Amino acid sequence: MIPNSDRSSSSAAGAGTDPLAPQGLYSTERPAAVPADEVPTLLVKIFGKDRPGITAGLFDTLAGYAVEVVDLEQVVTRGRITLCALITTPAGSAGSEGGLRATVHSWAESMRLQAEIISGVGDNRPRGAGRSHVTVLGHPLTAEATAAIAARITGVDGNIDRIHRLAKYPVTAVEFDVSGVATEVLRTELAVEAAQREVDVAVVSAGLQRRAQRLVIMDVDSTLIQDEVIELFAAHAGCEDKVAEVTAAAMRGELDFEESLHARVALLAGLDASVVDKVRSEVRLTPGARTLVRTLKRLGYQVGVVSGGFTQVTDALREALGLDFAAANTLEVADGRFTGRVTGEVVDRAGKARLLRRFAAEAGVPLAQTVAIGDGANDLDMLNTAGLGVAFNAKPLVRRAAHTAVNVPFLDAVLYLLGITREEVEAADAEPPAGEGSR
Ligand SMILES: [Mg+2]
Repeated sequence: MIPNSDRSSSSAAGAGTDPLAPQGLYSTERPAAVPADEVPTLLVKIFGKDRPGITAGLFDTLAGYAVEVVDLEQVVTRGRITLCALITTPAGSAGSEGGLRATVHSWAESMRLQAEIISGVGDNRPRGAGRSHVTVLGHPLTAEATAAIAARITGVDGNIDRIHRLAKYPVTAVEFDVSGVATEVLRTELAVEAAQREVDVAVVSAGLQRRAQRLVIMDVDSTLIQDEVIELFAAHAGCEDKVAEVTAAAMRGELDFEESLHARVALLAGLDASVVDKVRSEVRLTPGARTLVRTLKRLGYQVGVVSGGFTQVTDALREALGLDFAAANTLEVADGRFTGRVTGEVVDRAGKARLLRRFAAEAGVPLAQTVAIGDGANDLDMLNTAGLGVAFNAKPLVRRAAHTAVNVPFLDAVLYLLGITREEVEAADAEPPAGEGSR
């Protein structure tokens, strides 16, 4: 729908003097003094079983009345079409409104469709200031949750301008276009509801920024992959329980990450470094990880990982997934065995945010156009530094602090937060990779 705030409200007569005035809009044989928002318009709504030719048929019928199309929306849900056309009324010698009504109804009857024609004036109401996209992910999406979210939007004076489905698999994702309320207010309000229901609600500001996001940086352990890599190493060293205890405490924010890293790595001292190959083969990608990375790459995004884990694993992931950036700690090896130390600059909570800045600079992408995804307390600085921080199946502390949270176990659900539909993902997958298929 096109809000009339985007239109010039000058009359058609102004078109001759104002080069920016719309030339055709509402101008057909109109008296010069009628402003666009007072021009009589007709809302023609068609509903019924969808089949080829309905849209062509309707407009063929209207063509005889020399009307202008002001707005046009169509949706097909389970084989039923809803077609709404906002048109100007017939002008001058082209025919009467009564004649148009009779013709449209007669056409609809012949097509076994329902038609409703509502008289009015002007275009759609302008959308209010404060525009957001509210993405709701349900697994399943219940009527109860949908009602609660819609009520919360209304409760803060938000207006739902439009709703459409982004995905039906592996989650049901719908997007509400909301206006009239500040994004931050809406985000805070809906976070309360999301916490109480089996749904994820992401609120992002509408506008060009969303389309411009061009760098995605992910945490690795329990985000890109299902495992905590140090625990995989620990299992081979026989100190799994001790390491798991320290990891859990660190991720809850109870321990300084750097201290806990050194403590856990020390437990690996003496382990044969050839175990790296085994650990690499044990790593399990999070469902949807490949789809997420592949789709983002196809869209021209740069994608990277920043991990408090180890380059021994992130380098392999970078290679396997075709990532643009990867940074992690490196387990020191001497005489074919781990020394129990890491080399180089430690990637900790502050380090992750620093690396996001560095990669954004290298990619030539402003921070506002970056997305960070992570689950742990050591991801918090990175999530808050990014233009959009996504807490992925995160600890409560992280979920509360991030811009938005995804709690379904599918990493590709992040695509829906960026407004990318499942249909687009599947269509892209069906196309041959660039450089092929053109022979
Ligand atoms: Mg993690």
